[in-house]
Amino acid sequence: MTAQSAAAAARATVYGYPRQGQNRELKKAIEGYWKGRVTADALRETAAGLRRTNWRQLAEAGVHEVPTGDFSYYDHMLDTSVMVGAVPERHRGARAADALDGYFAMARGTQDVAPLEMTKWFDTNYHYLVPELGPDTVFTADSAKQVAELKEALALGLTPRPVLVGPVTYLLLAKPAPGVAADFEPLTLLDRLLPVYAEVLADLRAAGAEWAQLDEPALVQDRTPADLNAAARAYRDLGALTDRPKLLIASYFDRLGDALPVLAKAPVEGLALDFTERAAGNLADLAAAGGLPGKRLVAGVVNGRNIWINDYEKSLATLGTLLGLAGRVDVAASSSLLHVPLDAAAERDIDPQIGRWLAFARQKTAEIVTLAKGLAQGTGAITAEIAANRADLASRASSALTRDPAVRARTAAVTDADGRRSQPYAERTAAQRAGLRLPLLPTTTIGSFPQTNELRTARADLRAGRIDTAGYEERIKDEIREVLAFQEKAGIDVLVHGEPERNDMVQYFAEQLTGYLATQHGWVQSYGTRYVRPPVLAGDISRPEPMTVRWTSYAQSLTERPVKGMLTGPVTMLAWSFVRDDQPLGDTARQVALALRDEVDDLEAAGTSVIQVDEPALRETLPLRAADHAGYLEWATESFRLTTSGVRPATQIHTHMCYAEFGDIVQAIDDLDADVISLEAARSHMQVAAELAGHGYPREAGPGVYDIHSPRVPSADEAAALLRKGLEAIPADRLWVNPDCGLKTRGWPETKASLENLVSAARTVRSGL
Ligand code: GLN
Ligand code: ZN
Repeated sequence: MTAQSAAAAARATVYGYPRQGQNRELKKAIEGYWKGRVTADALRETAAGLRRTNWRQLAEAGVHEVPTGDFSYYDHMLDTSVMVGAVPERHRGARAADALDGYFAMARGTQDVAPLEMTKWFDTNYHYLVPELGPDTVFTADSAKQVAELKEALALGLTPRPVLVGPVTYLLLAKPAPGVAADFEPLTLLDRLLPVYAEVLADLRAAGAEWAQLDEPALVQDRTPADLNAAARAYRDLGALTDRPKLLIASYFDRLGDALPVLAKAPVEGLALDFTERAAGNLADLAAAGGLPGKRLVAGVVNGRNIWINDYEKSLATLGTLLGLAGRVDVAASSSLLHVPLDAAAERDIDPQIGRWLAFARQKTAEIVTLAKGLAQGTGAITAEIAANRADLASRASSALTRDPAVRARTAAVTDADGRRSQPYAERTAAQRAGLRLPLLPTTTIGSFPQTNELRTARADLRAGRIDTAGYEERIKDEIREVLAFQEKAGIDVLVHGEPERNDMVQYFAEQLTGYLATQHGWVQSYGTRYVRPPVLAGDISRPEPMTVRWTSYAQSLTERPVKGMLTGPVTMLAWSFVRDDQPLGDTARQVALALRDEVDDLEAAGTSVIQVDEPALRETLPLRAADHAGYLEWATESFRLTTSGVRPATQIHTHMCYAEFGDIVQAIDDLDADVISLEAARSHMQVAAELAGHGYPREAGPGVYDIHSPRVPSADEAAALLRKGLEAIPADRLWVNPDCGLKTRGWPETKASLENLVSAARTVRSGL
């Protein structure tokens, strides 16, 4: 094969498409079904209609092979568990009674049985349901869903490529079933699982699939030699099957590293690689592995996880290099388009000039098609598109939104000293103690109090013009008064205003910062029927005016006790937004940090002596590969310190993180140089306290003693027992008493009871010291 023939054969493809529909029809149909308002048939019809619309859109745009099997009523890992028969014992009854209801029982649980655990899909904001496996797991093939969707697409006259989670990734993402030893390794089930995949592949072949795609994103993480051997064995065995479609192994989200030569040598017909910036190493690694002679390479050059237009000339250069390395080169997004919203053309409120920089799933599809055309027919065939792309990129690069001279000058002038507090922790803690005069084991909360229906109604009324800003603010103040009165009565030591004015901890700030954009329809699936609409961090960030000071000050005016100011930190502001891709993340984080620093300084100036900067996303955006951790943690901790270092020694800086498992970032937590940290700990029985202690963490900490993810009210005894456990790791003069996280999703009755018990537990344990 020559480079010319590799080019001539180039086609456009995608690995998956947003499921929900332009108006989130799928969400409505599923939730309607749960409530009994939509029949199963109507739900199936809605779903089939959405699949048809997606496929037609893809085909009309010029995509050659359309993905099938990527659709899901809830989650594609759950679909895979069903496909291989890995239905936990506790869900079998529901599945036998009704397959669809049983499916939702696995996803959401029922009165009687718990659902599968849900966790994040790599470092995206999508969540999957974790397979539960054990030594007794028996796999059985159920290819019905895959085959049905394949046939639907064939019936439309399209060329479908079924997409499946690969067997190695499926097992690597699974966990030991309840009752199975914690050290059980699901990967040991590989030999049992492969025959099931063989059966499904044979069924797909029989139904007319020429190709099938097996997704192995778990292989872009650091893997042991045993894992890599398993991958080699899996694809040697699947490759050796005679009754199967051609196989495309897909990787995404990062570089394959040591797994690349393994997959390149496997006896399969194709490999899909991510060629976006974070995975750029794939290019050299592929060349070093000798390329894919005679095979199909699918090149993910269009970022499947972000919403910015592609740089055509850069992509064409990459594709040109790849031509010499494979028998055929196809063009794709780096990952499924599930992680981006559907259609940027629906954003009517965004300035059209800026709108031209945005590419959601539909626009990305068009980009992929254009690039494939340029590759196959030569760039002469896409001259106009290249010129338009160059103009759009230039307009973005020179826009006042992305280039604010004042922000740039300020960021450039940042010195190391700006990110250091004027006194070390050990010294400033004395000033804080003298100023705050708190008891031992001080009590506090994480910030939010219940977001009641009245608050949501007030916001809706404001949006609809039924009340004016003054009327809305009165309602917020009413709420703050109530929250304050309760905390005083309950005897909490460091109070909060309750965050009633915040719709969401990132959106609230994004709406007030210059440089951020909001979308109208930019929904992406977080899990099941939950969709989020991340703000777009599009330009240079500045803070035109204070964002929280009036609410915190109002709350402080109502009490003698300290009221804690409450902000979302820079790392989390980036993690839960679509972030600009035209400068390093660290530069963007620094801009956000400076804007937040102004807020911190203004809070202090207004008399706030305790300020909390939440960073729940610090751990979740940790890069997939350990080699990249240090670089990330450096800018992440630096931006936090830049946010918080402008204050006097006596001002106490808190931070908060949720989601257990902090063991690998304790050093980074220490590097934040916060005075107090609150962490999720109730479910893990204070494990994090031990982790902090094990590392010699020198600061104050409040491992949560109240699991706010459940309506259950912890008794005072229970909270006291957890506190005593905490005291084994953290000395009494450094231990705080608080819930795991904010209370916004809880109701008032359980919140009150739980916090009263928490205060009473603190008093009991305190009196025994
Ligand atoms: N301050 C926020 C709250 O209490 C923190 C939320 C979070 O950590 N996710 O709601
Ligand atoms: Zn939290």
